[in-house]
Amino acid sequence: MSPEETPKPSNFIRDMVLEDLRTGRFPGVVTRFPPEPNGYLHIGHAKAICLDFGLAQEFGGRCHLRFDDTNPTKESQEYVDAIMRDVRWLGFDWGAHLYHASDYFDRLYEWAVQLIKAGRAYVDDLTADEMRETRGTLTQPGSESPCRNRSVAENLALFERMRRGEFPDGTKTLRAKIDMTAGNVNLRDPVMYRIRKASHQRTGDTWCLYPMYDWAHGQSDSIEGITHSLCTLEYEDHRPLYDWYLDALGIYHPRQIEFARLNLSHTVMSKRKLLMLVEEGAVSGWDDPRMPTLAGLRRRGYTPESIRDFCERIGIAKADNLVDVALLEHCLREDLNKRVLRRMAVLRPLKLVIENYPEGQVEELEAVNNPEDPSAGTRQVPFSRVLYIEQDDFREVPPAKYFRLSPGVEVRLRWAYIVKCTGVTKDPRTGEITEVRCTYDPESRGGDGRGRKVKGTIHWVSAAHAVDAEVRLYDHLFSVPRPDEAEDFKSVLNPASLEVLRGSKLEPSLKDAAPEARFQFERQGYFVADPKDSSPGRLVFNRTVGLRDTWAKIEKA
Ligand code: ATP
Ligand code: MG
Repeated sequence: MSPEETPKPSNFIRDMVLEDLRTGRFPGVVTRFPPEPNGYLHIGHAKAICLDFGLAQEFGGRCHLRFDDTNPTKESQEYVDAIMRDVRWLGFDWGAHLYHASDYFDRLYEWAVQLIKAGRAYVDDLTADEMRETRGTLTQPGSESPCRNRSVAENLALFERMRRGEFPDGTKTLRAKIDMTAGNVNLRDPVMYRIRKASHQRTGDTWCLYPMYDWAHGQSDSIEGITHSLCTLEYEDHRPLYDWYLDALGIYHPRQIEFARLNLSHTVMSKRKLLMLVEEGAVSGWDDPRMPTLAGLRRRGYTPESIRDFCERIGIAKADNLVDVALLEHCLREDLNKRVLRRMAVLRPLKLVIENYPEGQVEELEAVNNPEDPSAGTRQVPFSRVLYIEQDDFREVPPAKYFRLSPGVEVRLRWAYIVKCTGVTKDPRTGEITEVRCTYDPESRGGDGRGRKVKGTIHWVSAAHAVDAEVRLYDHLFSVPRPDEAEDFKSVLNPASLEVLRGSKLEPSLKDAAPEARFQFERQGYFVADPKDSSPGRLVFNRTVGLRDTWAKIEKA
């Protein structure tokens, strides 16, 4: 396939892949997505997933899902399961190509022995602290360990004893023998193995030696025949080491290419920080709808299509930047606007009594399901004498430019009649408005103004027919665009990121809303029936996103 034939927007990695295919450096495209199962996937991972799986798809290759499970103390099966569920949900499939770095522990051990025999690796007795002290700095070379010149025979014997569990954690490591004066700190005799007497979720107690990321990663890529190993920019300085290991072993050599990670405003993306929020109860879990995790976004009501569209729009570049979360929300609105059904829901109800509407009468009025999609058809909404309207849609003393209901003023009830406010009833004790009174114009059915100017249109539900719901209004988890820059990121949590409304009233067609069903509540925003807590008998809706698109404004500015 040549670039001219492909309408896809290109990026520098895609260009490199095209070049490699043209020159025959690689016969096809095999990529991998290599999560560490130490947390849930987040929107940043989605960028990597879309890139890895997307390139493989485009060029008729394949993408492996490989768990980088080299650190048993921080990893778990729960995370493994969640990662697989989330990658599938996002719309990608690894087919038969599910792998684990732990699948290769035997092979990696043999390769380590090979490097020892070649005089290119040695067992070191330095502690982690001593190693740090002798590593040098960016401007100063490191110094060699006294163990560096152990004989091959001694190294082989010690390494075997490390494997058998004869030494306590942290007392010995295996290090590559490269160059303690190298300008690149990663090449200053990096650790290949450390002792960790911990049970592994897959290999149990077979191993007490665990490979470091750099030692495991490139070799895993090589075993699997990966062509392009795509990773984020922080691995750029590791590439010389990636190349060194593969060359020292003389095995098949994939190509590592780095790209800028996604940073998103008003959130944090480090798994360590996300775990803190979960453990300290700042959120309800990894799938809290305010979390930037895929599980959280899904529960919030995001569609996989909108996330893929977002990843496409942000593109792939080499320079770090911060993407405004408003762009993600924009992609979501565009997708939902096209496909979800409109419904009427009164979040904070206030009673509206139509004095001249016959008691006991009920009319079924026709309402359009989605003005963007005529094929979505219409539905019947019951109308009667007592309705609920939004508290915000009535003001006894209206401020300037208030076009909703107030005494003496007319508004149009969506899909129904024009009403005119005649007064209010108040609680004699508290003075609180308990109901708004009005009259309706029977000739105005369907909203026909018959020549008069009616400025406001408000939504409503029939009190006798409404279904109850809990509605959870979500906002950004952090109140500043760059929480990572705060001294303590938890000090800039948005205290108003969740508001729970327990007495909301919905139109009756929502009675059987299935968990995860999405709707637009007219004038309010997009909502989803909570996948965990909502059931047809007890409805719980999450606000996915409001209607006002702030991105459009940012883009114009
Ligand atoms: P963290 O540093 O938060 O623990 P990580 O990068 O260590 O995240 P991994 O599970 O190792 O998490 O990531 C798997 C893959 O996803 C890696 O290839 C990594 O480069 C990529 N990735 C992680 N975060 C981002 C991000 N914000 N943007 C793009 N790609 C990312
Ligand atoms: Mg990582």
